[in-house]
Amino acid sequence: MGTLLSPLVFSPSTSSATPSSSVSYLGKTRTPASRRKFQHRIHCRLESFLDLKPESKSEFLDVDLPLHDTADRSKYDVIIIGSGPAGLRLAESISIYGIRVCCIDPSPLSMWPNNYGVWVDEFQSLGLESCIDKSWPMAAVYIDDNKTRYLDRPYGRVSRERLKKKLMEGCVSHGAKFHKAKAWEIVHKEFEAMVSCDDGSEIKGSLIVDASGFASTFIEYDKPRKYGYQIAHGILAEVEEHPFDLDKMVLMDWRDSHLGNEPYLREGNKKLPTFLYAMPFNSNLVFLEETSLVSRPALSYKEIKQRMVARLRNLGIRVKRVIEDEKCLIPMGGPLPRIPQSVMGIGGTAGLVHPSTGYMVARTMALAPILASVIAECLGSTRMIRGNQLHHRVWNGLWTLDRKCTREYYSFGMETLLKLDLKGTRRFFDAFFDLDPYYWQGFLSSKLSLRELAVLSLSLFGRASNPSRLDILTKCPLPLAKMVGKLALETV
Ligand SMILES: Cc1cc2nc3c(=O)[nH]c(=O)nc-3n(C[C@H](O)[C@H](O)[C@H](O)COP(=O)(O)OP(=O)(O)OC[C@H]3O[C@@H](n4cnc5c(N)ncnc54)[C@H](O)[C@@H]3O)c2cc1C
Repeated sequence: MGTLLSPLVFSPSTSSATPSSSVSYLGKTRTPASRRKFQHRIHCRLESFLDLKPESKSEFLDVDLPLHDTADRSKYDVIIIGSGPAGLRLAESISIYGIRVCCIDPSPLSMWPNNYGVWVDEFQSLGLESCIDKSWPMAAVYIDDNKTRYLDRPYGRVSRERLKKKLMEGCVSHGAKFHKAKAWEIVHKEFEAMVSCDDGSEIKGSLIVDASGFASTFIEYDKPRKYGYQIAHGILAEVEEHPFDLDKMVLMDWRDSHLGNEPYLREGNKKLPTFLYAMPFNSNLVFLEETSLVSRPALSYKEIKQRMVARLRNLGIRVKRVIEDEKCLIPMGGPLPRIPQSVMGIGGTAGLVHPSTGYMVARTMALAPILASVIAECLGSTRMIRGNQLHHRVWNGLWTLDRKCTREYYSFGMETLLKLDLKGTRRFFDAFFDLDPYYWQGFLSSKLSLRELAVLSLSLFGRASNPSRLDILTKCPLPLAKMVGKLALETV
């Protein structure tokens, strides 16, 4: 489209400027050439949405939280560190069994910062559809400038407020307690552990679960943590207009025509491609995110933002206000934590993120109740399973052999994606979304068995174009051999 934007409409500080007021920036003594250069600089600077300050302020949930009494020295059954989606879902699911739970988080009522997207059927099957605030009947994947695939699978944006409130109210109604602090240290004894917090408090529990997210320091690994990284820059923006259909969200836009005049960015994008993810809420409100699906090391954040500026300019998207922004950095793949260990993990700390997509929320909502039932079985009044036996049961209850094996396959998917350039990535997704929907949907939702994943691979190979087959044959043998080796190790 190549739409050029007016240089004078972006930053709130300049929003009242008119074309004639731009001249007043220049001063009367400048020569026409230097004026043009200066105007060009202003033009470039003002064109970018990066100049706009995000307007969002801290928001808090209105829930009456039952707080932990620091004078009370009695022991909880379970202490959960972190009240993100994973921690709260687990706390809600465990407390239903009448098990005594305490959640530690420095700000349990703060709104979660991330924008979460899920496939609507994933939330429907969990009875969480009321926590989706906007859904699109279809998703679009722009393979390139000439080909778009439309996916007949509704996609939704999670209402952070509704989901958090629902989980929190579930916790409260089943007696879970909250403690506003940062967990600092965990000290283990044979059948219990104590969490020390930054406010000086110490809380005892039979089982400690770490749900503090990807940056956790409480979970141990016995292998090098060689992650791939999803990195993205996202904005919820008020725009003058945008070109997207309101009944489709854009899952991936791999077009690169916006980089035509940006030789440096274009070359970089050919090797390490990024795509646009977009959720159009109405004709003026849209969530836009330039995303590197996976890279190792992570692609530079600055480059992602530069590519996004070029893309929005080319799409004719003039940003009037940045309502929120988010920096997304998700470690993907890598080894699972040591299994078992004294601290249990859930969510980002437990390897639950999908190694090929970076998605995790729906899966964690589904797995936390399963983990809760294992915990309840161990800690329930008649069983009294504690210490090493408890740790062994809970870790293996979350990471069953089947789940570990399918995760190896998804990690193989990530290793394959890491090797593909823009052309290879386009060919891959063209073939992937041509699969029987049962397979591509099951792959994205981590629902396929190892046998079904093998069928998917053969079918993908059968549908792939010849260059794509060549990609698979030349680039996949090593990751494939590694995966087979790991599967063999898991199953002996
Ligand atoms: C920007 C972004 C966008 C994402 N979008 C999606 C998406 O669209 N769909 C999807 O499925 N996944 C998405 N993910 C991936 C993943 O689902 C999220 O990262 C998710 O928030 C992880 O949930 P969590 O509960 O494990 O950790 P977090 O959400 O990180 O929550 C951790 C909680 O622990 C608290 N905490 C941290 N340290 C301590 C401590 N020492 N003591 C006490 N509390 C502590 C934090 O304050 C926080 O409340 C996204 C990730 C990011 C970063």
